[in-house]
Amino acid sequence: MARIIDITALPIDHENQDFWKTMAASILRVQAEDIGEIKLLKRSIDARKRPVVYRLRLEVFLVGEADTKIKFEPNYQNVADKPRVVIVGFGPAGLFAALECLKLGLKPVVLERGKNVRDRRRDLAAINKEHIVNEDSNYCFGEGGAGTYSDGKLYTRSHKRGKIEDILQRLVHHGASEDILIDAHPHIGTNKLPQIIVDMRETIEKFGGEVHFNLRIDDLIIEGGRCIGAKAGEQDFRGEALILATGHSARDVFYLLRDAGVSLERKPFALGVRIEHSQDLIDRIQYKGELRGEHLPPASYALVEQVDGVGVYSFCMCPGGIIAPCASAAGEVVTNGWSPSKRNNPYSNSGIVVEITDELLDKAGYTGTFGALDLQKEVEEACWKAAGSTQAVPAQRMIDFVQNKVSKDLPVCSYQPGLVAVNLREVLPPFIAERLAKAFEVFGQKMRGYLTNEAVLTAPESRTSSPIRIPRDRQTLAHVQVQGLFPCGEGAGYAGGIVSAAMDGQNVVRKIAEDLNLD
Ligand SMILES: Cc1cc2nc3c(=O)[nH]c(=O)nc-3n(C[C@H](O)[C@H](O)[C@H](O)COP(=O)(O)OP(=O)(O)OC[C@H]3O[C@@H](n4cnc5c(N)ncnc54)[C@H](O)[C@@H]3O)c2cc1C
Repeated sequence: MARIIDITALPIDHENQDFWKTMAASILRVQAEDIGEIKLLKRSIDARKRPVVYRLRLEVFLVGEADTKIKFEPNYQNVADKPRVVIVGFGPAGLFAALECLKLGLKPVVLERGKNVRDRRRDLAAINKEHIVNEDSNYCFGEGGAGTYSDGKLYTRSHKRGKIEDILQRLVHHGASEDILIDAHPHIGTNKLPQIIVDMRETIEKFGGEVHFNLRIDDLIIEGGRCIGAKAGEQDFRGEALILATGHSARDVFYLLRDAGVSLERKPFALGVRIEHSQDLIDRIQYKGELRGEHLPPASYALVEQVDGVGVYSFCMCPGGIIAPCASAAGEVVTNGWSPSKRNNPYSNSGIVVEITDELLDKAGYTGTFGALDLQKEVEEACWKAAGSTQAVPAQRMIDFVQNKVSKDLPVCSYQPGLVAVNLREVLPPFIAERLAKAFEVFGQKMRGYLTNEAVLTAPESRTSSPIRIPRDRQTLAHVQVQGLFPCGEGAGYAGGIVSAAMDGQNVVRKIAEDLNLD
């Protein structure tokens, strides 16, 4: 029988198996020679006090004992001749929906407007270098969706929505490092994600599913009140049901649904800026002035403060990361962040966003179903214009922003298309800018050194979650009016991030299988 123990280790010892063995023997009151295999189950960093330590959960076997746990099996079956489910969108929600189809005996037919991972890379280069945004292939659209060139942080607070472990195991099965099963804050990195996604697509095809790229759906097929497919130009794709997993950036899909009479709801979201500090500074603050050295990862942070009745918080923090140009159409700019698996860039960036509540939207006149989306769009367009109508973004040093003055110059920044010095207080709506300024002063007290003019703000951080919800029945997960239509993932307003979108994809397919009596 395995014993589970928790130990604390200095960074230099955290991977030292002799140290683990000594600790295990002492805790279990046995001789070190009696300890057999030791497995690392969980790993987290405790930087609340000096010295910074690792907290490790170990599974210890005595000599002669074997691990009898059942190993993860993906349980895919050939679905070439099974009932078809049309899935629109090949982001994490669509991708994991397709994999779940393989498990439950349904044939996924995936339609994706963007290109495959390899071809998509050229379009990302065009945004960064030539300021050209391809409206079907960019950081948000294409194979793997917004998840492919994302940061690949895999933690979620959505524990009730499904089995996080199952999502992580499937990622490992398709090539992710086993570390993601262990770390308290798992992370894959932008350099590793594309190959994992290609591997998943190849699995879908190998087991009889279909994945079509360069197909933007522009209509639904609704017959007898039931949605049974979608149209892309002249082509019809039919099945038993339609999963709509088009993400929160596909505004044309929201307009298409509105025009088709499918009910939608305004949804609160969050909007603000992306801030960049030097990673050295964040390490010094978070590791209490200690040198990070080679045994600790680049430090992250999480900040939150209530300002004038609403939350202002850090979002999608990327240690050792890069600020990315995430516009999905011409005439707008959008920031977000990514980092490679080693998080070894000299910069640290994070969204700092203000909760845009229903009350704020109503007060500012953004009423109606498309109110939140209109605000998001207006801010993205205003930032585009303010920075000269290219993919350069408006930017300001942090203290200059708090003091409401344009920066005389700007620090070096990882955002490749470039920065233009602008007073962001004049571009962002006052109910957002003023709260950000107040929050920065508080954040500077919480993390000494964080409020500095060496940090730069870029704007806008606006694609935090969907500004629209496509309402669905809580039991069946089908749209409240249209049978057979399954709104899914972040764009439908039922997920925020890779793991929760993936779990939502799985949940929707389970409901479809139940509906078709396959379960
Ligand atoms: C730079 C960046 C970094 C991020 N970092 C993280 C992170 O570290 N951790 C995290 O959890 N999340 C992160 N995210 C967010 C995460 O990527 C999303 O939450 C997630 O991808 C949402 O999954 P989804 O499947 O619901 O939608 P999406 O990933 O948006 O996928 C939707 C797909 O639908 C396709 N589509 C849209 N319209 C149509 C149409 N009409 N016809 C056919 N196809 C269509 C799109 O091309 C797209 O591929 C990041 C996002 C970005 C952009």
